[in-house]
Amino acid sequence: MSEQSYRNWLEPVKFSHVGPNRSMHLVAPNSDVQDWVESELASNIVTAAHALSLDIRSVSIETAGPDPRPVQQEFNFRRRSQTFNQKYTFERFVVGACNEFAHAAAQAVSHRPATAYNPLYLYSGVGMGKTHLLHAVGHRLQESSPSSRIVYISAEEFMNEMIKSIRYNKMRDFHQRFRMADALLVDDIQVLGSKERTQEEFFHTFEALHNRSKQIVISSDSDPQSIPGMVDRLKSRFAWGLMADIQAPDLETKLAILDRKSEEVGVSLPEDVRDHIAAHLNSNIRELEGFLNRLIARSHFINAKITMGMVRTLFEGLGQSQSAGPSLAVIKHTVATEVGVPLAELTGRNSHKEVVRARQIAMYLSKRLTNASLTAIGKSFGKHHTTVLHSVAKIDQNLPNDTDLKDTVDYLRSKLSH
Ligand code: ADP
Ligand code: MG
Repeated sequence: MSEQSYRNWLEPVKFSHVGPNRSMHLVAPNSDVQDWVESELASNIVTAAHALSLDIRSVSIETAGPDPRPVQQEFNFRRRSQTFNQKYTFERFVVGACNEFAHAAAQAVSHRPATAYNPLYLYSGVGMGKTHLLHAVGHRLQESSPSSRIVYISAEEFMNEMIKSIRYNKMRDFHQRFRMADALLVDDIQVLGSKERTQEEFFHTFEALHNRSKQIVISSDSDPQSIPGMVDRLKSRFAWGLMADIQAPDLETKLAILDRKSEEVGVSLPEDVRDHIAAHLNSNIRELEGFLNRLIARSHFINAKITMGMVRTLFEGLGQSQSAGPSLAVIKHTVATEVGVPLAELTGRNSHKEVVRARQIAMYLSKRLTNASLTAIGKSFGKHHTTVLHSVAKIDQNLPNDTDLKDTVDYLRSKLSH
């Protein structure tokens, strides 16, 4: 949850008491906050309580009598004109095998908005260029039609603005701002998973724009079907137009990006350095960019040319976390809290169906997301390595036919990739 959203909605809520059936009673300053916390945050609060090993079954929230709400003057939607990140243009987007489809789709949409592909749905893991492409579309649309209203917003901001609008009675302005747009670019839509009220609002925005043939571009960390808690009608809308994914960067793309970025800042990278970085950084383009920036900063700092030695030092500084992904401890903890099984049971002997399933998932993720051996994973769960092998095989075997399982695993994977 963003800080802003926290301040608006959670901070004013006070703890009252725990009722007889383990229901946690809270007090909200007014009915808007009450509604919001009830519909959007109650289950998160229960989950958080579980993570703290508190025996809470539900949340119940009341208001604290009449509402002394201050009049808010500063809150006004029409305040801003849209600006796009100057760096995120098509010109600066390096095209390679991993992203050419998404790039072509984004270009098509900016040349002929709302004709062929509406919505355009871009998805990939983090740091692969979705936000960059969304801005590039924004730049291009604004250039070709300067008077049009192109709105770029992250799904999180969309949610926060909606919340504020409800709170300050500005829903009209809110509707106007989004439903009157000539193009709407929404980043990281997966954030709306399980946010029912916001999804409903977004659905109406989507319908209004789509009906009036306005281009919509959406980005997400996964395909629509795999967003946990996304309502079916939105999932199906997202699949109406064109879906394009971006893959992890291939070697050629990584080399091209290193060339382009170093050229942009006027630094020349020795060939061995460039090849080494491209071969060893596998995760995503943001990491690649970050590494290059650190390398350049370091060379400026010690006032020396970039060398392989410098690269090695930086790689050492990255330590394990770079390629090894999350640790076994983090995986176990995340699975325990997200699935709602106590950590001790995950590594214990409980053979209850749900616990076994959670344990298998945790072992599976440990194998898939780290370089740890079966023996090492077995040890950390207090199990023999053949149990790990069995669990991994079992999950692999069930994934294709068990959508619940797939949703859970995908969701955990995304949690663990942050
Ligand atoms: P995402 O939104 O998928 O997490 P971003 O769009 O924020 O990823 O990209 C991360 C960084 O990598 C940004 O600085 C972006 O400019 C850069 N980047 C991503 N893809 C490319 C590309 N194909 N060419 C040039 N820079 C890229
Ligand atoms: Mg992004």
